[in-house]
Amino acid sequence: MDQPANAKDSPVTRYRGRFAPSPTGPLHFGSLVAATGSYLEARHHHGEWWLRIDDIDPPREQPGAAAQILSALERFGFQWDGPVHYQHQRTAAYLEAIQRLRDLGAAYDCGCTRRDIAAAGREGPNGRIYPGTCRHGLPPGREPRSIRLLTRGMRVDFDDLLQGPVRCDLERELGDFVIRRADGFFAYHLAAAVDDGVHGITHVIRGHDLLWCTPPQIAIQRLLGLTSPSYGHLPIAVNAAGQKLSKQTFAPPLDADKAGDQLWQALMFLGQEPPDDLRRAPLRELWAWAHAHWAISRLRGRQQAVVDCQQDSPAQP
Ligand SMILES: [Zn+2]
Repeated sequence: MDQPANAKDSPVTRYRGRFAPSPTGPLHFGSLVAATGSYLEARHHHGEWWLRIDDIDPPREQPGAAAQILSALERFGFQWDGPVHYQHQRTAAYLEAIQRLRDLGAAYDCGCTRRDIAAAGREGPNGRIYPGTCRHGLPPGREPRSIRLLTRGMRVDFDDLLQGPVRCDLERELGDFVIRRADGFFAYHLAAAVDDGVHGITHVIRGHDLLWCTPPQIAIQRLLGLTSPSYGHLPIAVNAAGQKLSKQTFAPPLDADKAGDQLWQALMFLGQEPPDDLRRAPLRELWAWAHAHWAISRLRGRQQAVVDCQQDSPAQP
């Protein structure tokens, strides 16, 4: 069911974390690391751990992937609180948020094509930066395509739990970013910012590859009057070539038949150094050890680490 963006949740009195995979394919080792880190940190604080399926990008999604992800998480022994939340059911909340941003004068229609931006924009650290062509209205003869957030003079500074102080001049480093795409789908920044804020998520622990998404998400939350979570960005798993493990780099899917071994490897990756003999122990013993010994401080300042994803991994089906 759709919930309006201003839905009043019960006041959050304790830690509420979340894991929010996109159903673009099966979970791989990198996703296991992010799930494990956010889960153990939430439980360490006697908090809740919510599960959200970020299914707002149908062109990139794979049929059946969401169900596959839920089943893999279950077989790995994760236990989430409450129902699974699906972003595809939150259309009304996102539309309402966009309307509020427009009412504030913080969002505007853009009629530019990719080609226009390639021709006029400048290169930024995260791709081409939009030159602001439509800030003062659509040029004559142009139809609205996407909706952008106005970042004029906007700065976002925050203290990352693991990476320390992050300072971002949004206008210079990211530019007016898209909140609703030309194909009509909602942009990730908008959906994640609205859901984390409205759901009362207090802590987002996720991969370092998403660090650059945090300033625009905090910016949206501030404009909408939503409380921003605290953020901590975990080191990401890269292959020997230094590429992030993902479907694009052919990271092998998790194999739930080897859940104990793979969870042990994830804990190792997260700097927790589980004892060797737990590698072949029943999953619940490994979880019990992990809950008792989890210390996120071991990860402070680490941004990436190499995993050999060929080792002990099933072949791609
Ligand atoms: Zn434009």
